[in-house]
Amino acid sequence: MRKFIIANWKMHYGPIKAGAWIRAFRRERLPKDLDIGVAVPHVSLAAARASLGRAGVPLLGGQNTFWMAEGAFTGETSPAMLKEFGLDFCLVGHSERRIHLGETDEMVNKKAIALQKAGMRPVICVGETELQRKKGETLKVVRAQVTAALSGLKGDGAVVPVIAYEPVWAIGTGKPCTSQDAKVVHEAIREILVKKFGKAMEVPIIYGGSVDLRNIAEFMSTTGIDGALVGGASLDPRGFGLLCRAAVPA
Ligand code: PEP
Repeated sequence: MRKFIIANWKMHYGPIKAGAWIRAFRRERLPKDLDIGVAVPHVSLAAARASLGRAGVPLLGGQNTFWMAEGAFTGETSPAMLKEFGLDFCLVGHSERRIHLGETDEMVNKKAIALQKAGMRPVICVGETELQRKKGETLKVVRAQVTAALSGLKGDGAVVPVIAYEPVWAIGTGKPCTSQDAKVVHEAIREILVKKFGKAMEVPIIYGGSVDLRNIAEFMSTTGIDGALVGGASLDPRGFGLLCRAAVPA
């Protein structure tokens, strides 16, 4: 399976800065054996697409979508609208949306199904809070989130989902999960995937939460970790280029 690194800009960069980021990043020397994506705020998708031209790197993604195709849903963006920008993937269920906007497992599942139907890969974010980890509930919580999110999804083809394990307490804190603790969770997720899709499935499980230049190589070389979702350390295009190079041994 090819490894996959995704930049999540979160709510940073309007159209002007987004275009500049893409143009700067395209000057970076990037490893061939790596899929690289960038999840862009919706208002900046047109500028990002224009700066990208026909180049395949980075793959473009959204950070959220809605499950209905169109209608009276003020403020929402449908998968079909995202697809018009030629998006390859879209994040769903990021913990910031679960926490601040009340996104539930059921909503995450509906969004993931809608994305696949529209021809994009859902990148499904899951992860436990600090309290849940302290109470020893990490695997129970993550298993429940993954199982709910995958209901009715396809595990193969061009729109195969990606699971991003992102412990909430590690996001934006500078305190990543250890690679060995992440490995245990990735193994539990892989078990669910094998049961659901069989051995031939090609669903990457990537890790997110304070990934940076110092720790990317370790995460990427850990068995069962198929890539990374990178927030803060993706905001500088040169820094993110360095991180991508450090992710894959030369
Ligand atoms: C994220 O927002 O998905 C994330 C992993 O953030 P950070 O890398 O800043 O922890």
